[in-house]
Amino acid sequence: MRAVYEEARACVRCPLHQTRTTVVFGAGNADADLMFIGEAPGANEDRMGLPFVGQAGKLLDKMLAEISMDRKEVWICNVLRCRPPDNRDPNPNEIEACQDYLWRQIELIEPTVICTLGNFSTKLLRADSTGISRLHGHEEVRLIGPRAVRLYPLYHPAAALYTPSTLEALRVDFHRIPDLLALGPPEQPRSLGRSAAPDGGALYEPVPEIDDTPDEPAEPPVAVGQPEPAAQLGLF
Ligand code: URA
Repeated sequence: MRAVYEEARACVRCPLHQTRTTVVFGAGNADADLMFIGEAPGANEDRMGLPFVGQAGKLLDKMLAEISMDRKEVWICNVLRCRPPDNRDPNPNEIEACQDYLWRQIELIEPTVICTLGNFSTKLLRADSTGISRLHGHEEVRLIGPRAVRLYPLYHPAAALYTPSTLEALRVDFHRIPDLLALGPPEQPRSLGRSAAPDGGALYEPVPEIDDTPDEPAEPPVAVGQPEPAAQLGLF
């Protein structure tokens, strides 16, 4: 994981390296059973070098606390590791350039359950344009590279900040996470050994820009303390 991090923090694979302050690699337990994948760093994340440190992150922490977990136990990352200027949506070329870091993190962590937060990560991991309002709360076993995982799409916490019904749906879905974790890892495909190279295929294709749900609102700027240089290596 450290080698992947060293590579990512020097990354110039897409134009976002010109405008970022910090590469937000991901943080938490690198051996976690549970992984969360958001969209992209916002202003606070870009300053701090950590994922989900603004209002949406506080809501994520609250939801985790409600299921008696905290962020040190899980892995939290994003589709993009660098902030898109003005919190605009990720571009397909940026997703394409950045996804390799995500696949490598998943391969190293070997999570049992992956919660995709919102449309971008859900569409990327499912290689399909179906939107989050249809998929949230519906778990399915999916192959990510050679491994089967329990994929569990959830509303993005930033969307839940604004809409009480979305917050309620997120809470109901979130409270099912312990049951999914209790199921343990799904049956693994027999035909592929664990050391098999990740199968490219559709999962590695850029996601088409088809959106059948309204965009999630960008997270509002929140005041945080003095930005600290991110000591990310201490975080996993
Ligand atoms: N929203 C995201 O998708 N990721 C973050 O890290 C913060 C807000």
